Amino acid sequence: KTSNYDVVVIGAGGAGFSAAITARNAGANVVLLEKMPAVGGNSLISGAEMNVAKNWVQPKLGINDDSPELHAQDTFKGGDGKGDMKVINVMTHEALDAAKWCRDYLGVRFEDDNLFFFGGHSRKRALIPVGHTGTEFIAKFQAKADELGIPVITNMKAEELIKDKDGRVVGVKATMDGSEYTFNAKGGVVLATGGFGANPEMVKKYNPKIDERFKTTDAPGTTGEALYMAERAGAELVNMGYIQTYPICDPISGAIELIADARFDGAIMLNQEGKRFVEELQRRDVLSEAILNQTGRYCWVLWNDKIGSISNTVKAHANEYEAFTKQGVMTTCDDLKCIADFTKIPFDQLQKTVKRVSDMAGKGNDKDFNHRSGLVDMQQGKYYVIKAVPSTHHTMGGVRINEKAEALTAEGKVIPGLWAAGEVTGVTHGTNRLGGNAYTDIIVFGRIAGEAAAKAAK
Ligand code: ADP
Repeated sequence: KTSNYDVVVIGAGGAGFSAAITARNAGANVVLLEKMPAVGGNSLISGAEMNVAKNWVQPKLGINDDSPELHAQDTFKGGDGKGDMKVINVMTHEALDAAKWCRDYLGVRFEDDNLFFFGGHSRKRALIPVGHTGTEFIAKFQAKADELGIPVITNMKAEELIKDKDGRVVGVKATMDGSEYTFNAKGGVVLATGGFGANPEMVKKYNPKIDERFKTTDAPGTTGEALYMAERAGAELVNMGYIQTYPICDPISGAIELIADARFDGAIMLNQEGKRFVEELQRRDVLSEAILNQTGRYCWVLWNDKIGSISNTVKAHANEYEAFTKQGVMTTCDDLKCIADFTKIPFDQLQKTVKRVSDMAGKGNDKDFNHRSGLVDMQQGKYYVIKAVPSTHHTMGGVRINEKAEALTAEGKVIPGLWAAGEVTGVTHGTNRLGGNAYTDIIVFGRIAGEAAAKAAK
């Protein structure tokens, strides 16, 4: 079966939806292909916080000195200088416009009075969607796609990019239930297929250190075959060995523990001996490495109501609270004795650590690990504790793009008709993606790619 479109977008996560909606609004006849039975990808299960310098919440929190330049520097530095500054600058400078598009055009609701302060950032700048997950975004994306009449075809797996005799990408070969389909794309194809964190063989191939012991936080469709598809079409894959493990995940399933985001408000990380061992707001790679160096390769995240009341993660993630408590990964206690009994951390040391943390509460007082936003008094319960291990989370590598989201060859030449956006790309985050940058990345470059592909069809 063959059908003709102006623009074909592959992958219905945040990048793909942004591209498809933008292409449609630029006048293109567009289709969105998704290999899984449901849309959303990693974008759906993500915490979905979005870094935006100079956002509308910052002044309410007294933050008036942020800038896209600072955000770009943090991103570049957070990736150990391996990111492409031209691309990063586009991301940080377009972030506010992208967030307003989400808020005002898509109707995404953000918390009005709170931000997340992810590791590696020099300013608190991550907008928080209502519910603290990607559900808010994906629901609004889907509603807008419906409103605009964009066909979103699930169970349709892109297998091969089609090139014409001049080397331009002009379509996609796909399969559904073993049948073949051809989607011609007059303007071109946007690749928005996400990463490969849920493909253990591919992860190990590019980074042998991340072996079978690691589970993954990722959506099951995050298996990366489309990267090879791009490679066959001439795109260069770069930075493929840079694979991020998320430090705080469920030891049983590998799922991310969003409930432990209380860490951003002061929750502490303890080893089995009951000692802190790292600054809790460090980069994800640093935290993961630190956890793997502790007894049993895991840690405990501990917080009390005083910390919990700030972002209310227990309430925001009521489903996690129930599931993790039932599984025995997490518990809630009135006092530290009960926490010690549950975790088998020596009670003496636990008391000592909590006392020391409480004595050092307040910004600038942490003599042990220099907690950047300040420790919180933890002498009073209730207490919450959860066991955590790192699991594979985000693959920084992928298709090499330029600042226009055009896919490039190893020689740096643009592949006509091929754009890429989101986790499938490989030049924004360097060695290590900072928290809250994925959503900024997918929306900014999804929109750029969609717009350009639509223009090319004219
Ligand atoms: P991003 O955050 O970059 O948007 P996501 O993981 O949210 O990435 O979304 C990528 C989507 O692409 C997922 O829903 C995934 O199932 C889908 N996908 C991956 N490979 C293919 C493919 N070959 N054909 C169609 N869809 C794909």
